[in-house]
Amino acid sequence: ETVFVSGASGFIALHTVKVLIEEGYKVVGSVRSTEKGENIKKLLKSDDFSYEIVPDIGKPGAFDEALQKHTEVTAFLHIASPFHFKITDPIKDLVEPAVEGTKNALKAIHKYGANVKRVVVTSSYAAIMDIEKVSSPEVVSTEETWNPITLEDASKDPIRGYLASKTFAEKAAWDFVKAEKPNFALSTVNPVYVFGPQAFAEEVKSELNTSSEIINAITKLKENDEIPSSSGFFIDVRDVAKAHLKAFSSEETIGQRLLMSDRFFVAQDILDIYHKNFPKEAAKSPKGTPGSGEKASEGAAKIDNSKTRKLLGFEFISLEKSVVDSISQIINAQNNK
Ligand code: NDP
Repeated sequence: ETVFVSGASGFIALHTVKVLIEEGYKVVGSVRSTEKGENIKKLLKSDDFSYEIVPDIGKPGAFDEALQKHTEVTAFLHIASPFHFKITDPIKDLVEPAVEGTKNALKAIHKYGANVKRVVVTSSYAAIMDIEKVSSPEVVSTEETWNPITLEDASKDPIRGYLASKTFAEKAAWDFVKAEKPNFALSTVNPVYVFGPQAFAEEVKSELNTSSEIINAITKLKENDEIPSSSGFFIDVRDVAKAHLKAFSSEETIGQRLLMSDRFFVAQDILDIYHKNFPKEAAKSPKGTPGSGEKASEGAAKIDNSKTRKLLGFEFISLEKSVVDSISQIINAQNNK
């Protein structure tokens, strides 16, 4: 079986590709450059991985050639989407590539992917949460909840731009399936903040992908720095990768949104784990108010993903393990420089 993975060089995608290869699948990845494709080949050391260049998922027909060439593909995981806030125009830089990228993938599959039976779109908790209600503890989101954000909200700032990009991209995917009645079934994976080590130690750079940088930034703090205000829900990247496999290989996940969340966190929780497990490296970091994270979670909106947990049937990796594995990889990379 051959699985197509868009944005194969990304944090979540590379983990997913790694697990697919371990499980015996052949993988065709899309990347933006030859350099990125060759790098993945070098890391995976497997002939079961090949790549196609798709420089911009947002350009019309972006995936046409890749799929015309690979008629053997039976499942398509659309993971590529811009996830960073270094942008000038939220609509042009985030919403358009996310939405057009998703439509381009689905159109190409519908047209050329005669053997594609399953499609998974990597959506996000961003498509579920309501940014105006994150501090309303009585609000509970589930797999059925939709972010009410509008295009007008999206243009206000990069955060809202990103939330809208994921909301509208996922909506476009479900709308496509409804309107076109294609040959394939759709499922989505909707993760909260994804932490955990990079799939390969070589991928640890001084600045990491947006979600991993939350942990990286905490290891960079100096004694008198303020504790970052970052907070949200957490899931480990290895669980997100496993969910992508389940999403396309099980009958039960057809038409489902898998809401991937383990628990709520604040930066203080990450800092506490850092001090506890890496006392030497953390010696010069601020302490904050150890143990105060639990209280902070009481004021936050909630997630009930019992449906997803039941569908997946595996235990999620804990915040402590995820943070410890991430930080040890960062420390090793620094020591090996
Ligand atoms: P990364 O930034 O590591 O990966 C994003 C990937 O998408 C990269 O390979 C990037 O390529 C590619 N990409 C972005 N824009 C384009 C474009 N216009 N054309 C072609 N390729 C593009 O982030 P993650 O691995 O974290 O994110 C992967 C997916 O998971 C995204 O859909 C994201 O929205 C979603 N997600 C992530 C969460 C997280 O906390 N990490 C939480 C919830 C959802 P390149 O690097 O070459 O630019």
